[in-house]
Amino acid sequence: MTPAAFDYVRAESLAHAVELKGAYGVDASLLAGGQSLVPLLSMRLARPGVVIDIGHLAEEETITEDNGAITLGPLVRHRTLEREGRIGATLPVLRVAAQHVAYPSVRNFGTLGGAVALGDPAAEYPATLTALSARIHLASHRGAREVAAEDFFLGGMITAVADDEVVRGVSVVPMGANDQFGFYEVSDRKCDYALAGCAVIRRWGAHGRASTRVALFGVAEQPLLLEGAAAVLDEGGTERWSDDALTAAADVARDSVDRAGGSRVKAHWAGVALRRAAANLLAGADTR
Ligand SMILES: Cc1cc2nc3c(=O)[nH]c(=O)nc-3n(C[C@H](O)[C@H](O)[C@H](O)COP(=O)(O)OP(=O)(O)OC[C@H]3O[C@@H](n4cnc5c(N)ncnc54)[C@H](O)[C@@H]3O)c2cc1C
Repeated sequence: MTPAAFDYVRAESLAHAVELKGAYGVDASLLAGGQSLVPLLSMRLARPGVVIDIGHLAEEETITEDNGAITLGPLVRHRTLEREGRIGATLPVLRVAAQHVAYPSVRNFGTLGGAVALGDPAAEYPATLTALSARIHLASHRGAREVAAEDFFLGGMITAVADDEVVRGVSVVPMGANDQFGFYEVSDRKCDYALAGCAVIRRWGAHGRASTRVALFGVAEQPLLLEGAAAVLDEGGTERWSDDALTAAADVARDSVDRAGGSRVKAHWAGVALRRAAANLLAGADTR
């Protein structure tokens, strides 16, 4: 199918895109990497009156470090997250998440800002950013604001982005040298969207106290942050997790999927994904 007719505007800067979004509101869609929007346009599942192209704004592909946080510009490509040495050194879980997105041609074009704005519940970034306690930066003609990732993804393809807002970046506190992560994805084929997946982050604070965050993807309408599972894993704060603790955490995962209305098979996969992500964390495995 061909898309319905729309007007095309090439934004001169992100500030220009914000201005245009303020003027057109819900009738305008931003075009970043186009990997989701173009198929949606072609299938006429999206019919914006105006498409605002930001994909060429190279200045929005930057990765900066300031005040103890790494800020990723909205046009940082999946390929950059996968390959950039700084990401591998400071946010390795994000590199692994990026490696699980589709295949190279999609990763070359697709952007972090586009994936975040889309809020696909089967996508890797929403849950990974939730586990990382990331903050999403938004801009509109009304001003700037930021939203914690756990409050940002509200439902299937529903996010906290208002009709006149633009995602202008994502900031994350880098992982320390002793911090650990585990990631696991159940999918039919390596490059497919997840049937279920789990990201586990364990950060070590002062006095050897561990703080764990566990988030599931692909099992409900939005990422599921499993505070109960994290509490079970944190109990005792030991180097390794007992089999009992892992079983209890997997039970929390299954219950959470049940409560969120996921199917029994999704609940089962959630438990499997959590156990395997935890095993990868303990093994220090850089999984793909
Ligand atoms: C075959 C295929 C397989 C895929 N597999 C996966 C997968 O396994 N995992 C996964 O996560 N993704 C997958 N994707 C999607 C891919 O990751 C997309 O790149 C991503 O979801 C959207 O990024 P984009 O830059 O292409 O955004 P676009 O397609 O340009 O835009 C997506 C949406 O976000 C809006 N938008 C874009 N940028 C902004 C912004 N800065 N502020 C506000 N709104 C914005 C657009 O208006 C649009 O509504 C797949 C895509 C394809 C084609």
